[in-house]
Amino acid sequence: MHMLPKPVKLFSMGPIFRFERPQAGRFRQHTQFNVEAFGEQDSAMDVEVMSIAWQLYAELGFRGLRFQLNSTGCPQCRPAYIETLKAYYQTRRQEICGDCKRRLDRNALRLLDCKSPGCQPVIAAAPVISRHLCPSCHDHFHHLTGYLDQLGRPYEINHKLVRGLDYYTKTVFEVWAQGIGSQNAMCGGGRYDGLIEQLGGEPTPGIGFGSGIERIILSMKEQGLQPEPLPEPRVLVIHFGAKAKARAVELVFALRNEKIPALMSFGEKSFKAQMRDANRMKAACVLILGDSEVEQGLISIKDLRQGEQIQVTEAEMVAKVKSLLS
Ligand SMILES: [Zn+2]
Ligand SMILES: [Zn+2]
Repeated sequence: MHMLPKPVKLFSMGPIFRFERPQAGRFRQHTQFNVEAFGEQDSAMDVEVMSIAWQLYAELGFRGLRFQLNSTGCPQCRPAYIETLKAYYQTRRQEICGDCKRRLDRNALRLLDCKSPGCQPVIAAAPVISRHLCPSCHDHFHHLTGYLDQLGRPYEINHKLVRGLDYYTKTVFEVWAQGIGSQNAMCGGGRYDGLIEQLGGEPTPGIGFGSGIERIILSMKEQGLQPEPLPEPRVLVIHFGAKAKARAVELVFALRNEKIPALMSFGEKSFKAQMRDANRMKAACVLILGDSEVEQGLISIKDLRQGEQIQVTEAEMVAKVKSLLS
C-alpha cells in the first residue's frame, strides 16, 4: 500500500464483535463501516474525512448535527500533559471512583471519559489538553477549526473526548445529532499518525472514523426518519406476440443505457393486465409493441399522464421518451 499515491483512501465494512456486555442498541455483533485516509497530515484532510460522516447523516435526514472536537496531542506534547493531569488527580484522589483510581496509574487520559457521576466535578475542573499542545498540534487544531468555521459546520470543543492508545494523535471527533446524546454518538473518529509505524510500517499519518450501521438504523427509527424511496421505473414496455417480446427485451436495455429507468412486462399477459401493471408502478408512459409493429420498425408510446398515444420509429423512440419524461 505504501507504493500507492498518497493519500490512500479506504473504506471497509463488516461484522464487529463486542467483548463488553451487550445492552440496548449495543449488540454482541454489529456491522460497522470505516472510512480512512493514509499518508496526509494536513488538517484539510481531516475536514474531508469528517465531512463524509457529516454528509451521510445529513442526507439520511438527521437534524441538529454537530461535531464534538478535541486534540489528543502527540508524543511530543502529550506526556507533559499527562503528568499535569496525574498531579491534579492526585490532589482529588479521595473523590474519584475505583475505576479512575486504576486509570490514574495505567491510562490517565481515560480519566476524562469516566461516566461515573461522582467523577464529573473532578473532570470538569481538570486541566485541559488544548492548553498543553505543542506548536505543531496547536497549528493543526487551529487550522481545522478555521476550516469548519468557513464551512459553517457547528462544533463544540469537548475536552473529555480522548483516546487511550498511544498511536492516536491530534484530532479526535464525534458527530452528534439532535436528540441523540453523548452515549449514542453517530460515529467516532480521529487521527492515528502513529499506528502504521507501530504496526511495523514506515511512519505514515492516518485519519478515519467508524460508524455502526445498526446504531444508525435505531437512531433513524427513534427520530422517525424514513430512507429515501428507491427510484421508480418510469417506463413499462408492454408487448404482444413472440417477436414483440424478443424486441421488448432489447428495448428495455436500450432505454437503461440512456439512463431511463425502464421495465418490461414479464410473461404473456393481456393488454389490460399490462396497463394495470403500468398504473400500479406509476409509470409515466408505456411503449406498446405488437408483432406487426416490430415488422414495420414502429413503436407506440402512450403518455399515461396526458392519455395521448403516438407512433414513432425505433430511431425516434429514445428522444421521444426523454421529452415525455422531462
Ligand atoms: Zn503535539
Ligand atoms: Zn471515575
